[in-house]
Amino acid sequence: MYCPKCHSKKTKVVSTDPIKDKVKRYCKCLDCTARFTTVEKHLETAENPGKPKGSFVLNPYQCKMIKKNKYMLSRYEWATIYNVSKTTVIKAESWTKSEKIKRTLSN
Ligand SMILES: [Zn+2]
Repeated sequence: MYCPKCHSKKTKVVSTDPIKDKVKRYCKCLDCTARFTTVEKHLETAENPGKPKGSFVLNPYQCKMIKKNKYMLSRYEWATIYNVSKTTVIKAESWTKSEKIKRTLSN
């Protein structure tokens, strides 16, 4: 997290304080010595239900849209729409129901 005062990226977490489902982080800017706190929290959205970073991010509905490709969009356009990489779009094209089952079992 960058410094709110000077926007420096050289910040340090001085201490952490867990509160229920979040973690409060006490930070210090190494450039201007400003102190600030951040809150780290797990996101629970339909699009990305707590999946690890770098894993497949599109939900079954989005995969279906890409497979159908009603508006004849290019892979590049799909990648822009869903804010994912082109590789993810290619994966979505070959997405099948069996993958969804596999994922449900592993959760
Ligand atoms: Zn600063």
